[in-house]
Parts: sequence; C-alpha cells; structure tokens
Amino acid sequence: MQLLNKPEGSQTMIGASDKSRLTIAEFAKESRIRADSYHRYHIDTIETPDRQALPNRFLVSVGKFGLAKLLMSEVFEYWGKWDVVFARPCTYGVFSGPVGGFSPRPEKCVGCLRCTIEHPEFVTITPNPALASLGDSYLNSKIISTIDEEARKGTVPVRGQGYRGRFGGPGWDGMFTDMSEIVRPSRDGIHGRELISTIVDIGSKPMRLQFDSEGGLVSAGPKMMSIQVPFVFDSPAGSVMTPSLAKIWKAAAEQVDTLALIPGDMVTSNNLASPSVVPIISLDSSETASSFKNGTRLIQLDGWDASAYASISSSNPDLMISIRMSFETGWQGQLNEMIDAGVSVIHFVANNHGEADGDRFIMDIIIEAHEMLLKAGVRDKITLLHSGGVVAADHLPKAIICGLDAVGLDLPLLVAIQARLSGDTSSREDYKAKLPRRFDDKWACQRIVNLTGSWRDQMLEILGAMGIREVRRLRGEMGRAMWCTHLEEEAFSEIEGFIGGGI
Ligand code: SF4
Repeated sequence: MQLLNKPEGSQTMIGASDKSRLTIAEFAKESRIRADSYHRYHIDTIETPDRQALPNRFLVSVGKFGLAKLLMSEVFEYWGKWDVVFARPCTYGVFSGPVGGFSPRPEKCVGCLRCTIEHPEFVTITPNPALASLGDSYLNSKIISTIDEEARKGTVPVRGQGYRGRFGGPGWDGMFTDMSEIVRPSRDGIHGRELISTIVDIGSKPMRLQFDSEGGLVSAGPKMMSIQVPFVFDSPAGSVMTPSLAKIWKAAAEQVDTLALIPGDMVTSNNLASPSVVPIISLDSSETASSFKNGTRLIQLDGWDASAYASISSSNPDLMISIRMSFETGWQGQLNEMIDAGVSVIHFVANNHGEADGDRFIMDIIIEAHEMLLKAGVRDKITLLHSGGVVAADHLPKAIICGLDAVGLDLPLLVAIQARLSGDTSSREDYKAKLPRRFDDKWACQRIVNLTGSWRDQMLEILGAMGIREVRRLRGEMGRAMWCTHLEEEAFSEIEGFIGGGI
C-alpha cells in the first residue's frame, strides 16, 4: 500500500494499483472494520470446583475442656456483652460453625497462628501430614497445591505475603530473572495496555532471504506454524494415557490454540486427528506418517533414524516432522546429525525431575543445546521443545531463557485434573495416576484451560517486568538472568573457606 495525492478534484487515492485505489474515506472505513474485528488473544478461565479436594493444609486441634473453661470465664467476666463472649479468634471462619471451636472447620485454616498464639493452652495448629505426603521431592505438595489452585480459579495465586520460595538452591531455584523494567507502565503484565505476545513459532525460518535480479524471492520461505502459548500438552506415561484423556488433551489444546501430543495409534483408533493434534509415532510404524488427515500439520517421530526421517520428509513435503529425543549420554552427536539432516523441530525429553545425561539438571543441558545451534548458525531454523522437569509457572520462563522455544507439559496437566500420582514419579513411564472417580470431559478441559490461563498470565507478568514485548524475544536471553552460584562466586570467592556450588 502506498499513499498517493492525486489532483482529481478533492479525491485522495490510496492503493498500489488503479483497481485497488481507495479514497481516504473508504480506506478509513476499511481500517475501522479491520480494527473492530481485531480480537486480542485471551484465555477464558472459569472457576471450576474440585472433584477430589486435596487434604487440608493444617490440622486444627481444640481442647474441648480448655475451650469450655474459657467460655465460662468469659461469660462471668463479660456478662451481657455477648458480642465479646461469642467473638471468635479466627477471621477466616474456622470457628464460625454452629458450635464454634467445638467443631472447627480446618479446611478454612490458612495457618496464620493467631488462635494458637492467643490460646496456646488448648489450640494447636499443625501442618497436615496427609498433604505433605503428596507428590515427591521435586513435584512436592506445595507445587501440587499451587497447580490445584491455578486450575480451580484460573488466576495468578496471590497471597499478599510476598515470595515465600527459596532464594537459590538446586534446579530452577538457582536462577533469578532480571525485573529491572518493573517501572515501565506501558508493559504492566496482565493489565497491559500494550500487547505482550506469547505466540511462539514451531518449525523452521530461513536464516536469510535470497532474491533474483528482478527482486523476486528465490529462497525457500518459512515452514512453520504459530501457537498462542509457549507450551504444548505432552502425552503422559503410556499406562496413564487413555483415549478419554487424549480427547481432553485435544479439546483443551484446541481451546487454547496450542498442540496436544498423543500416541499415533490412539489418534487413529479414536479419530482424533486435527490441526491441534501431533501424533507421536514410533520408528517401527513410521510408514503411518502420511495416514493422519483432518489438517494434521505436525507429526512426531519417537527417536532418531536418519533414513526414516529422510523417507517421511520426501514423501510428505507439506507435513512438518519433529523428532523426540532423550538427553542420554552422547546426545550432542545425535543433535549434530539432526542439524545436518535439516530437522526443523526437536523435542528433548528428560525424566520428571529434569535430570538427564547422567545426573545433570536440564537447565545446563538446554543451554548447551541452544548454544550448539547458535554456533552452527541454524538457531532460527530449528525449534527446540522440551518435556520433563517443568512443573511450576516460574519454571516456564526460566526454561525459555535457557534457550527453549516452548515447553511440553504433562504432569502439571494431570495434577490440574486432580490425579493422585504414585509409584516412581521421577520416571517418565513408571508412575501411576489415579483420577477422580466422577468427572466429565468439560470439567477436566476447563481445569486445564484455567491452568494455562494462570501460567500465561504469570508469563505476561514476567515479560512485563522484564520489559520484553514478546516471548519469542525471551528465548536464550541469558543476559537477563542471574545464577545464584555465579553471584556467590563473584561475591565470596576470595574469602577463605568459600566452597561454592550454591546453597
Ligand atoms: S491458624 Fe489462623 S486461620 Fe487457622 S484457625 Fe487459627 S486463627 Fe484461624
């Protein structure tokens, strides 16, 4: 489009060709229609009650004799001032039932300890061991409770107590993000007046464009698709994934506009093929790659085999193919092979504690993989996904800072629909998940949508605080992060006795 001032009466014309020329009034009208039809991406969250509530956070124990004694003494002391006599020490309603403290409501207790400080002789508040026993050392009860709340309300959990997590430690806790742009008002996260995009591209973009002498484009264009959020829904363990769960994954992915990774045979036998579904196919059944219809855009090969990849890509030129690869010792060689073969989407997998390649944490391995692609000069030609070890909203931006394009979620989705996990939860295959007894697909889908809405809002908050206007620009932005070990080293390394290695 170009703006032309033509001396045809008062008519000002706009447009590249005579046919498409518009008057200013027509152009303004079209622009208005275009502006009115603009839809700002938003995830519709709806409060969705529990089907299998978590155990209460605290146990509230009230000595009946002590309480009766207190009531008697208050009746005598404040006779006639019944509001004083019947005042309850808990503003959260734990003692507001018909018989007050004689039958407390521990599900309302937030652990402020006011009651036990005022009446230590007969009130005791203790953490509930049934809650503490949920999960494991990585996906612990605190994270499970947070995911549960995010999936129920679809909002960012705010408790008004500031950050109560760790400052430093193993895993993702060892990284801090730089929020120095927090004062920039136009990018104020979820309330932003200026759009912050969470769109990510899956596929390959050319590193450069080539034109002929006439200015025509001669090099290949991008082969990619975009999804609205920097995460995809990954398939849980084979023993856990069922056709009904796959349908929920698919419905939620379609609603949020992301991708659901589902075993290929399940996609075929349940007719689940869709643009939002990525069938995972084993190397043994690679010949089925072209059988997925209904707009399937991407398939995933479970493992690397150069000849299978070459054969599928030559016989399905319009299909995008991703390779699922575990970070086993020697993964670097396999990554180099995939770079040479022109693989455009690589999906790394670690165990559920984010450990791979011996006992390395995934953070270091992702950085190494990202830097390998940078060195090879192909970073924009390859999309990096990863599953395993991302179980909290703050892990997501940290993983992207390390160099991922998007993250695969599986356990957090199971927790969102209130599955109780057991067995070896560190392993990707050896755990079990017990789902609530009565639930319908709509309920489960909304819980997952709520979780994604909450995690996206938290991503927007971080992007806003960092002054970054889209999540694609966060990828590999390690200059905007700090590592506790580095800071300690810098500050204390010259002090005798310093051993380093983090807290
Ligand atoms: S600890 Fe606080 S919230 Fe819990 S019962 Fe006591 S006063 Fe109420």
